[in-house]
Amino acid sequence: MPELRQNPITKQWVIIATERARRPHEFIQKKTDAAPLASYVEKCPFCPGNEHMAPPESFRIGQDGRWQVRVVPNKFAALASDGEVSRTTQGLKRTVSGVGVHEVVVETPDHSLTTALLAEEEVRQILECYKQRYFTLTDDPRVQNVTIFKNHGVSAGTSLEHPHSQIIATPIIPPDVRNRVEEALRFFDDSGECIFCKVLKEELADGVRIVHQTDHFVAFIPFASLTPFSLWIYPRRHMASYGEIQDEEMRDLARMLGTILAKLYHGLANPDFNYVLRTSPSEYRYCRYYHWYMSVIPRLTKTAGFELGSGMYINTTLPEVNAEFLRNVETPVAAAMSASKAESLRG
Ligand SMILES: [Zn+2]
Ligand SMILES: [Zn+2]
Repeated sequence: MPELRQNPITKQWVIIATERARRPHEFIQKKTDAAPLASYVEKCPFCPGNEHMAPPESFRIGQDGRWQVRVVPNKFAALASDGEVSRTTQGLKRTVSGVGVHEVVVETPDHSLTTALLAEEEVRQILECYKQRYFTLTDDPRVQNVTIFKNHGVSAGTSLEHPHSQIIATPIIPPDVRNRVEEALRFFDDSGECIFCKVLKEELADGVRIVHQTDHFVAFIPFASLTPFSLWIYPRRHMASYGEIQDEEMRDLARMLGTILAKLYHGLANPDFNYVLRTSPSEYRYCRYYHWYMSVIPRLTKTAGFELGSGMYINTTLPEVNAEFLRNVETPVAAAMSASKAESLRG
């Protein structure tokens, strides 16, 4: 019989098809005949040498006049960076002026790459860039929330090839973010515990949905995963805000994120995906009940009328089976690392 499972934090329900579930290999993407991408594309505003085609840069990491990661305002920004926040209410009609920041993080100078193929140090620089922009943007009194995310591939919302992610700072806290914080606070009031720390403890004890572990992070497919292969990456240490991540933890997160994206890339043949950094809004920065994490969401299925009508999802796969599948995907880095470990054991 199918099973309804509930996300303990958002309270969202998902129907898991337990018996007629699709097998992981059914989700391996078909190879296309498209030619491999070039490292440099003349018309690409994010390739080195074409910097004049994008708005002036707001941040960069690099040396000797060359950049490795760079942040530029989005040319087609959803929000205006100048102006003051003003609110109006007329009857039930409430508006807030569209003031905020919409930036593009250009993740590498090489047009042909994807995050899964970057070196650990290159991923670390992207994560460092997120932290610096998070600090700068949350310092702006007009900003109430910063969303850091990546769209990879057409099904994930982008047709732009050059590896990039985005940051949007809004003048309001979205209800979705507020609800997560409030549910976590309610749980903390009832139990005296951080619900995220507790979820992590239970997942580690169950073990069956764990995909990968590092010194400071754990990646797992949630018990009530809404869509096939959706993953959470939790820091082991309790931290409400991504801004609290320390240097060593960031190196470790780079290793973790690189490994997870490589597992998807090699295991499912480069699926489209989104990832989102779910950090607390800045005023909850030191709170004991919220705990930041990353969601990685491969876009392998489409949502339709039932999801729109009910807010519920149907997942035609088993989180436990998918976790086992991803656990067993060897990534070149992991393979190279285990080979060198074997070598050192032999020596
Ligand atoms: Zn490019
Ligand atoms: Zn916690």
